[in-house]
Amino acid sequence: MLYLSADCIIPIEGEPCFGSVLVVENDGTIDGIYAKSELTGSNSENIHYNGILCPGFVNTHCHLELSWAKGLFSEGEGLDYFIWQLGKLRKTVSETSIIDSIEKIANEMEQSGIVATADIANGNHTLDYKSKSQHYFHTFVEVFGSDPNTAYSIFNYAVDLKSQFQERVFRGSVSIVPHATYSLSDALFNLVANAAKGKLLCIHHQENKDENLFFRDGSGPIAARRKAFNPDLPIYPGTGKRPMESLTEYFGPNQKMLLVHNTVSEKQDIDFVQNYFDNVFWCLCPNANLFIEKHLPEIDLFRQNNCKITIGTDSLAANHQLSILEEIKTIQVHFPQIPLAELLTWSTLNGAELLGLQQKLGSFVKGKRPGVVLIENADLNTLQLKPETTSRLIIPSHT
Ligand SMILES: [Zn+2]
Repeated sequence: MLYLSADCIIPIEGEPCFGSVLVVENDGTIDGIYAKSELTGSNSENIHYNGILCPGFVNTHCHLELSWAKGLFSEGEGLDYFIWQLGKLRKTVSETSIIDSIEKIANEMEQSGIVATADIANGNHTLDYKSKSQHYFHTFVEVFGSDPNTAYSIFNYAVDLKSQFQERVFRGSVSIVPHATYSLSDALFNLVANAAKGKLLCIHHQENKDENLFFRDGSGPIAARRKAFNPDLPIYPGTGKRPMESLTEYFGPNQKMLLVHNTVSEKQDIDFVQNYFDNVFWCLCPNANLFIEKHLPEIDLFRQNNCKITIGTDSLAANHQLSILEEIKTIQVHFPQIPLAELLTWSTLNGAELLGLQQKLGSFVKGKRPGVVLIENADLNTLQLKPETTSRLIIPSHT
């Protein structure tokens, strides 16, 4: 048994405990949280940490395959510029540097306390790393393509990629997902939706207002990009509806779904999605939103509407690190009224529930093996994080 005491233990299911001891079996299984007085006799094995203990983090949005792009993009140029740049830069990078950057960055991500990750894949560059890692990866094989004539070939490529991940990645699962609300033809959406029944989907949603324009009447920068990439396609007229409402012809209410970014989602969007879908999660990637659009979602709106919020790091093309703690810091700076325990719930248990891992990860409940994270240099009186606050995994998880 390991007896870990800390200034504060945040169990996620239950109130923060001060001056208590987290008891963990040697294999990382949680036994419980006890007052020091309950544990007389075992104090000699007690390890004390200055800081906060919480369960391992779940990163619900990541593109590990873009780790090579660290530091290559200028900030605040907007999503349209970002997508054009990414297309250009992708052609200049070597296979070796792609593979090396994945391993280096994934290791850093894990050391910072992340124990499970939902990771987007367009190709198989992350396959080798994932096949030998102890980390749990849900791989979202992503498809896009506005030309209906390419739908079958794109989908078949994704089916092949999915089976490569299924065969070789022991800790994890895979599903084929639509890239964004606006980037698939009818035919491709139907192929994805038919294969998605009972599976977990994610989709990039409302990263900026261009998406609303595109669906309203087929105008704006997304329409222009679509035309540039597919000059022969007929003009898209729009649906006159909001983005997610436009997708209900493909996805029924019981489709489990993660909406990623939601940077410009308004009350009408949240109301619609919350009423329509039975099992929907909202992923926030605040650092990437500031990096690309210099804009953050209206986070209090999601809280007021009882949305299940999760946290993602997005990619190193749009972030300086893949760290859930850094995402939480950014939220606390802009929304200081949100308690740390709530932010940590988004970062642990909600992500675990998204991945169907809530019986194993996400909280200090007896029998789980969620991993233990130490948060150091926070303000322990107010439970506010500071710029110098750090996190690291001190006990690994097991799924
Ligand atoms: Zn993304």
